[in-house]
Amino acid sequence: MISTTKPVTRRVYYKLKPWIPRELQIWIRRLNMAGRLRQCSDIWPIDHNTGQKPAGWTGWPQGKRFAFVLTHDVEAVRGRDRCMMLANLESGLGFRSSFNFVGKGYPVSKILRRRLVARGFEVGLHGLVHDHQLYESEDSFRQQAVQINRILKAWGAVGFRSPCMYHNLDWLRQLDMEYDSSTFDTDPFEPQPDGVGTIFPFHVPGNGCGQGYMELPYTLPQDFTLFVLLKEKTIDIWKRKLDWIAAQGGMALLNVHPDYMSLNGTRPACDEYPVAFYEELLEYVASRYRGAYWHVLPRDVSSFCYGRLVKRTISAADQVSCESSMNKAVVQWT
Ligand SMILES: [Zn+2]
Repeated sequence: MISTTKPVTRRVYYKLKPWIPRELQIWIRRLNMAGRLRQCSDIWPIDHNTGQKPAGWTGWPQGKRFAFVLTHDVEAVRGRDRCMMLANLESGLGFRSSFNFVGKGYPVSKILRRRLVARGFEVGLHGLVHDHQLYESEDSFRQQAVQINRILKAWGAVGFRSPCMYHNLDWLRQLDMEYDSSTFDTDPFEPQPDGVGTIFPFHVPGNGCGQGYMELPYTLPQDFTLFVLLKEKTIDIWKRKLDWIAAQGGMALLNVHPDYMSLNGTRPACDEYPVAFYEELLEYVASRYRGAYWHVLPRDVSSFCYGRLVKRTISAADQVSCESSMNKAVVQWT
């Protein structure tokens, strides 16, 4: 694995981040990326070792070639206030997505959540606060898991994504969710850069009587990486990766942020990019792959894959002690 900045340096950076001006934050991250970009060319944006289909894989529903899944992390108020505009744009082009809000980061009204859901979008949870502290220790994770579970239930949400894409698949089993999406196939530029090495969903078995959850790694590069840090002026990298995923029959899962999209035609700020890039990608998928992709919400992918991936093999004894458990599930495509 390619290392990023030393962990201690990274820890210090993220501790100080709230007090570092935005322009300087971006400059530091660009500097950090520039040194590593060439080293990573064999694993980013495409790691050719991640395309292998899971054993027994029988394909996507309706004989579709690949899955196309859209998600949004809403980092702050700026992004929250753009959600309906983004939803309108997507629905106008025939797409739907999930919006992951930060539970205690800013107010998220019931009206907004209901409006999104009523229009066919999904609402998920993007941590409690948008920082690195969720994973500071297992104790702290456990304490926050209680609050996270409370919000998931109140919102009727089944999906979770950690702030800053930190992840510990073992600890995440404490969350009452159907799927997590805090990982990626390959993204060496993330603060925790260990990719899961697959462009397909996979199952994380539960502890005790838990049924576990599905993990949906994002597989297309994030907008912030491409257009803010790397200052790309085209969507060529998105297209190249998407074409490769389609050829492998995998899951193209994208995470773009309304916070970073310049949606109203004004000149993009230092951490924004023109929404036209995103529109162009949606139009590219819709025209080039018309009829060939399975486009559903992440919760639907999770549900489909759970049904296919997990075969119940609960012993009679387990059924007595643990009626609803699918803990003894075996990872096997049926
Ligand atoms: Zn985020």
